[in-house]
Amino acid sequence: MRIEILTTGDELMSGLTRDGNFQWAGQTLTGLGFDVTYHTTVGDDKEILEAAFATARDRADAVIVTGGLGPTPDDLTIEVAADFFNVELELNQAALDMMVQRFERIGRKVSETNMKQVYLPEGCHTLLNKWGTAPGFSFEADNTVFFFLPGVPKEFRAMMEEYVIPELKNLNPDMKKSCMRLVKTFGFPESEVAQKLEGIERDGVKLGYRAHFREIHLRVSSFGDTTSEAQELMNEFLEDIHSRLGHHVFTTTGEMLEEVVGNILQEKSLTLSTAESCTGGLLSHRITNIPGSSKYFLEGVISYSNQAKHNILGVPMELIEANGAVSAPVVEAMAKGVRNLAGSSIGVGISGIAGPGGGTTEKPVGTVFVGVDSSLSGTISREFHFRGNREEIKLITVLNTLYMIRQILLNNV
Ligand code: ATP
Repeated sequence: MRIEILTTGDELMSGLTRDGNFQWAGQTLTGLGFDVTYHTTVGDDKEILEAAFATARDRADAVIVTGGLGPTPDDLTIEVAADFFNVELELNQAALDMMVQRFERIGRKVSETNMKQVYLPEGCHTLLNKWGTAPGFSFEADNTVFFFLPGVPKEFRAMMEEYVIPELKNLNPDMKKSCMRLVKTFGFPESEVAQKLEGIERDGVKLGYRAHFREIHLRVSSFGDTTSEAQELMNEFLEDIHSRLGHHVFTTTGEMLEEVVGNILQEKSLTLSTAESCTGGLLSHRITNIPGSSKYFLEGVISYSNQAKHNILGVPMELIEANGAVSAPVVEAMAKGVRNLAGSSIGVGISGIAGPGGGTTEKPVGTVFVGVDSSLSGTISREFHFRGNREEIKLITVLNTLYMIRQILLNNV
């Protein structure tokens, strides 16, 4: 089955919006074993859109169109589709009912403009949108099935999963069953991951790499005649990855590092508090982005100045004067101070030079100390030397700190 993904919108052509829908759909569909044969992007122009539909119909068996289902004048997809399939637009009652209910819930009335969205091509199959306002639809023409989905990424993905992928599987009953996993590693550069995984390839398993700011993500797909066969292949493969990369694999189910740390804290009924200097609260921001983090995150202090380190955390001024604010004794004292203040199981202290100014020969830009105080680790600290601009150094620091906390929680330190 040849699949074409057709993404539409002037904002894609101008480069203002990254074509994330294609990226996600391409990865997801190929991961499931489908062939994505063509990818086209066009702007909001009737003639060009119609020509793109015609080309896709002639060369693909299934076409996934995203964008342009909205109420504004530049949303042309529905109108062009009706012309292309040579049918009229008609009011779709199910889509209207859903829109009315949705608007009632937020205390709004359906406007004339919104009504445009529920006039769909006659004879189409409606794909109701439970995640937003614009309904989608599918239509078959000359043995090619077209799926029309909204451009908003959250809605697009949900509707792909709910309607399109199951339908593509129906159209391909002989396709192998598949299993997909996102494995994430930290601490090795891509070349080292590739070297350690050399020769791991095997029949029935596909492996893709993606570098993601100090993390290497591995997308693994396995295929079998039955789901359990695909699952078994996957388990064996993941075991092999683990044996080659060890603790550098921090998840095989796609979570972010802060989520992984949060899960372990919760499992072990432990709590955390942070005292940040050069990261300015980025660590506590990342931790509190995770729903449910209030169960284990107690307090975050941004102790930027020496005075704040002393006044809030009780770091002795003499310690700062003797060692400098960016030093092992100071981050250890910060970690102890915040742990004491919050009454948490673990306290973390961070101090460093994010640049571009402030570096010395002894402590150049990128020098960062991270201290941890806990009953698991005692009071410890690590010195790092990072490269990058100010924002990158802040981010690398946060990732390394999260990784350090994980290692302590797993007794790997
Ligand atoms: P709605 O009316 O609900 O907005 P729509 O189908 O009209 O849906 P568009 O107006 O085309 O969707 O796009 C809505 C927003 O979705 C865009 O402003 C853009 O931010 C995002 N978007 C559209 N297409 C893509 C794409 N291919 N990849 C990533 N984001 C996209």
